[in-house]
Amino acid sequence: MAGSLKTEGIVLRSMRYGEADRILHLYTPHRGRVSAIAKGVRRAKSRFGGRLEPFFRLNLVLYEGRSDLLTVTSAETLAGHPRLREDAAALDGAARACEAVARVFDDGDPHRGVYHLLANELALLNGDVARAGRSNALAFRLKLLLAAGFAPQLAACASCGEAEHLMGFSGAAGGVVCAACEAGSFALDQEAHDFLVTALGLPLADVPDASPRALAQAERAILETLEHHGHVRLRPVGRG
Ligand SMILES: [Zn+2]
Repeated sequence: MAGSLKTEGIVLRSMRYGEADRILHLYTPHRGRVSAIAKGVRRAKSRFGGRLEPFFRLNLVLYEGRSDLLTVTSAETLAGHPRLREDAAALDGAARACEAVARVFDDGDPHRGVYHLLANELALLNGDVARAGRSNALAFRLKLLLAAGFAPQLAACASCGEAEHLMGFSGAAGGVVCAACEAGSFALDQEAHDFLVTALGLPLADVPDASPRALAQAERAILETLEHHGHVRLRPVGRG
């Protein structure tokens, strides 16, 4: 299947390779995560300039030969997100968003919605670096769970379907649980429950902040869901 692949892509990781090359992990709308080599990119006169760095959203032409590793033949910048690179919290938020996408989705597992979610998150952080923080990072992860098909059940007990007396959250059960099914769960306050529902339902740009206690519970719910259903352990999103 040798040939050229034209695609948009976001650089998730960029690693030095050999004398002057870089290996890139990219997320693309139709192929999902792919790996590509960019040759000569670290030479001063490289035609790629500095655009094969994390968080760049690019129009790419990739050559696909026999190997799993594609070769970058051209790259045009669609969005370089320069402002987020100048703010420590925004940079950290962008790095964790890219890391989460890279960890949750394997090569050849395309989700068009994930591409747009990540593009949207990077554009938001670049447009307003003050947006970076725990509620934004958690809302991003929650939407990633939804795109991956592991969104937690929040409307009724994930074990028995009871709609009242929802007390806790169980990653193993896959969502909120009622008083009768609470074994193995942790307590989830109403505010944390509301945050999860709101963050799943609203656009990323509109997700409101919540108290540190509610965000800590929401984070635990997201981490446990990922561990049980995605078999992925992510770094905590940190303070913010
Ligand atoms: Zn129950």
